[in-house]
Amino acid sequence: MAQREQVEVEESSVLAHFGHMGDTPITITDGDGAYVRDSAGNEYLDFTSQLYCVNAGHGNEAIVSAMNDQLDRVQYVSSAVHNDARTRLADRLADVAPNSLEDVFFSISGSEANEAALQIARQFQDASTVLTRWRSYHGGTYTTAGITGDAAIRLPVESHAQTTGNVKFLPPFQGADPAFDADSPEELAERAADHLEYVIRNQGPDSIAALVTEVVGGSSGAFTAPPGYFERVRDLCDEYEILLIVDEVITGFGRCGDWFGSQTEALEPDMLTFAKGVTSAYAPLAGVLMRPELGDALREDAMDIGQTFAGNPVACAAGVAAIDEYEDFIPNVRQLAPTLREKLEELERHPAVCDVRGRGFHWAVEFADPDTGEPVFDPRIEHGHNPVDDIVAVAREEGVLIGGGRPSIQVTLSPPFCVDERDIENAV
Ligand code: PLP
Repeated sequence: MAQREQVEVEESSVLAHFGHMGDTPITITDGDGAYVRDSAGNEYLDFTSQLYCVNAGHGNEAIVSAMNDQLDRVQYVSSAVHNDARTRLADRLADVAPNSLEDVFFSISGSEANEAALQIARQFQDASTVLTRWRSYHGGTYTTAGITGDAAIRLPVESHAQTTGNVKFLPPFQGADPAFDADSPEELAERAADHLEYVIRNQGPDSIAALVTEVVGGSSGAFTAPPGYFERVRDLCDEYEILLIVDEVITGFGRCGDWFGSQTEALEPDMLTFAKGVTSAYAPLAGVLMRPELGDALREDAMDIGQTFAGNPVACAAGVAAIDEYEDFIPNVRQLAPTLREKLEELERHPAVCDVRGRGFHWAVEFADPDTGEPVFDPRIEHGHNPVDDIVAVAREEGVLIGGGRPSIQVTLSPPFCVDERDIENAV
């Protein structure tokens, strides 16, 4: 990788996103496979995939070449007009998606895909309440921050946005401050599903448009559902006629070892939102995959929603090429996921580690309070010094990028799919 001129961040006009992730005093200038380099010439093994996006790694020639070919033909077409790259990508997505999903509505970001899914659900159901989960993340727009279970993100918008109303929260499954006392994963699944049914019955099923859930929690800490939970969720949604929207913005496109996390969990959603990995982040693209009856309803009763850059042909060409690449990369995830899991689970023997959880190439390691040995839960952690920043900074000094999380002390490890066994060993 070439060395670049140093950039003075302190004097720049750029305002940072996701300020709660702590100060990141590096400027990335180059990427190659699973590695990135900063402006000072330091190289890092990137176990964040840059916000869980760059699944195929940096500098993938097939994706770059597909984008260049598309740029040579036509670089932009109105989103109200069809373009062949978009049609090809829609067909490829329907091929690899869970069987229940056939139609696609494209967006630009994961937040906008979730916004669209909520709007479609509320209109189709003629109901407004949305069920979601504490310690989830669904986006940075008013509505999606409003269904996000991370108090630090939700509260600032909730206090002054009417659009976030009619949202009810369900508890996560593990981690600090657990809501259910259960002796086995099966009992946990039963308790969590019974609680969901209790909420539905007391809320009034007819008032509920949708349940939105990640299949494996994302930036909130890779929470996995206990076995049998999602089967009950599907049954309850059918019984009470509630649409099940699965947010696969992180878990889509091989991150859990299958094309989608829903397939890993044997779950058939009514809608599935995706972003990030669809193009391996070579261009911004997102969307909502949905059941044909919802697609037909949109065709018949066209909702006047859309975005100028949704389904941009260059982004869609990147998407088709990325999906072709994943055909080869997903077997690598499947093959190496047990190694990553074993190595991380060895950390559980360390007295500072209280939980290790995840699927495929998406894991969280949670740390205990050194004095009590217990998990730490503090929704105000972002206002003071977050100990996670220290852990992330030490890893960075050692040449590995990992993600930080709240409101407990946890880090996430989500490598690109092109890593090998030695990379995993080095990072862990
Ligand atoms: N949903 C999940 C699970 C996410 O992790 C994210 C972003 O990190 C989003 C939605 C929002 O996506 P975007 O940042 O592209 O708007």
